Amino acid sequence: MTIDHLYQLYIKHPVISTDTRRIAPGSLFFALKGDKFDANTFAAQAVAAGAAYAVIDNAHYRVSEQYILVDDALDTLQDLARYHRKQLNIPVIGLTGSNGKTTTKELINAVLSQHFNTLATQGNLNNHIGVPLTILSITAEHEAAIIEMGANHQKEIEMLCTISQPTHGLITNVGKAHLEGFGGVEGVKKGKGELYDYLAAHSANVFVNADDATLQQMAADRTFKKQLFYGTQSADNLINGKLIDNAPHLVLEWHEKGSSKTHLVKSNLTGVYNLGNILAAICIGTYLGLSPAEINKGLEGYQPNNNRSQIVKTATNTLICDYYNANPSSMMVAIENVNKLSAEKKVLILGDMFEMGDEAPAEHLAVIEKAAAANVDERIFIGNEFYNARASHTGHYYHTAEDAITALQNNPITNATILIKGSRGMALERLVSLL
Ligand code: ATP
Ligand code: MG
Repeated sequence: MTIDHLYQLYIKHPVISTDTRRIAPGSLFFALKGDKFDANTFAAQAVAAGAAYAVIDNAHYRVSEQYILVDDALDTLQDLARYHRKQLNIPVIGLTGSNGKTTTKELINAVLSQHFNTLATQGNLNNHIGVPLTILSITAEHEAAIIEMGANHQKEIEMLCTISQPTHGLITNVGKAHLEGFGGVEGVKKGKGELYDYLAAHSANVFVNADDATLQQMAADRTFKKQLFYGTQSADNLINGKLIDNAPHLVLEWHEKGSSKTHLVKSNLTGVYNLGNILAAICIGTYLGLSPAEINKGLEGYQPNNNRSQIVKTATNTLICDYYNANPSSMMVAIENVNKLSAEKKVLILGDMFEMGDEAPAEHLAVIEKAAAANVDERIFIGNEFYNARASHTGHYYHTAEDAITALQNNPITNATILIKGSRGMALERLVSLL
C-alpha cells in the first residue's frame, strides 16, 4: 500500500493505537516490535478489540483485508507522520537538549495554550515512536504544536526533525547526559546540534539562551531565518529576566526588549536552573504574539506533578522531588540549588546516575565532592556507583534503596528540606513514604 493510500485511511481513522491493552475503537493499530515482543502476534487481538485496521509487517498474520501488510511497521508509522506533518501549516516548536526538555515543553505549552489551541508531547514520549505518535495526534483544530525530541545517540535528532519538521526550535542546553551513547560531551554537542542544523537548512527560527556560551557559539556557527535570544543581561535579548527569589519556588522579573515595563512571575517550580526554562517560554510566547498577562497566567498556572523540580510538603519534611532522572549536569545544578536554599536543615539523598560508561567513577566522585562542599546537614548516597566511589568523604552510603529504607526506618529524618534525585532506574520514589 502506498503512503497516499494509507493516509486516506488515516484521515478516516485518525487515532493510532500501538498497545492492545488500550485499543481505541476505529483506530489504526501499528504492530511495533519491542525487545521482548513482536506486536504482529497481537494484531488479531487489536482488530478484535475494535481497531479498524492493523498495520503489520509479517505476512503470516494477514488474515483479512483489515490487515495492511508493509515492509516495516515502524518505518511506515514514521512515514505517515512525516506525510501528515507536511499537510499542516502551523508553528511547530521542536525542542531538545540534555536537561529540562520536558519541563520547558510543559512551560511553553502552559504559555501558548493561553492563546492558541495547542498540542504538546504527552509526558516524555520523545523518541522514534513517541514523536510520530505525537505528530499524528495533531488535528486540523490545532494552532501550534510543541514537540519534545530526545536522543541518546547521533543522528537521532536529525531523524526526529524529518518527522516533526519544526518551524521554530530550541536546545535547552548541552550537558553530560547519555555520555555512553553520544561518545562524550563533544558528541552530545554534535547530536543536539542536529536540531540547529535542521532549522538552519529549512530557514526556520531559533530561540537561544544567551547566557549559555556553548549554545551561543553553536547558533553563531549557523545561519537561521531569525535568532531570538533570552537571558539575564544582554540588551540584544528579546527577553531579559532576573531571579528575585527561590525560597523554594522561583520568582522572577522579566521585560521585553525596548520596553521599560517589567513583569513579576511567581512560578511553582523550584531550582534556579529553571530560570532559563521559564525565560525560554516567555521568549517564545512573546515572539508568537502573546501579551505579558497571558504569558504570566500560563506560567503561574503550571504546577509540576511529574517529579521534576517539584516541591512536596509532608507531615515532617519539605521534599524537592527531582527523582524522575539524573545525570552529572542536572545533579550538579540540583545540589547547587540546595546549597543556596535557606532552610534550617538540609539533606541530600542522591542515587546512582546511569548510562555513564567509563566516566562513571569520576562523575560519581565529582558529585560526592560537590555534595561534600555544599552547605547541607546530611548526605545520603544510594547505589553501587556511589558506593564504589565513596573514598573518604562524609556521608552515608548504601548499595541499594532497600538498605537506605531500613536505615531511614531506624533513623527518620524530620524538619528538613530534602533533595531526592537519581536515575530513573534507581526508583527513589520508594523512599518518599518514609520522609
Ligand atoms: P529526559 O531526557 O528524561 O526527557 P528532560 O530533558 O526532559 O529529561 P526534564 O524531565 O524536564 O528533562 O528535567 C529533568 C531534570 O533535569 C529536572 O528534574 C532537573 O533536575 C534538571 N533540569 C531541568 N532543567 C534544567 C536545566 N535548564 N539545566 C540543568 N538541569 C536541568
Ligand atoms: Mg523529557
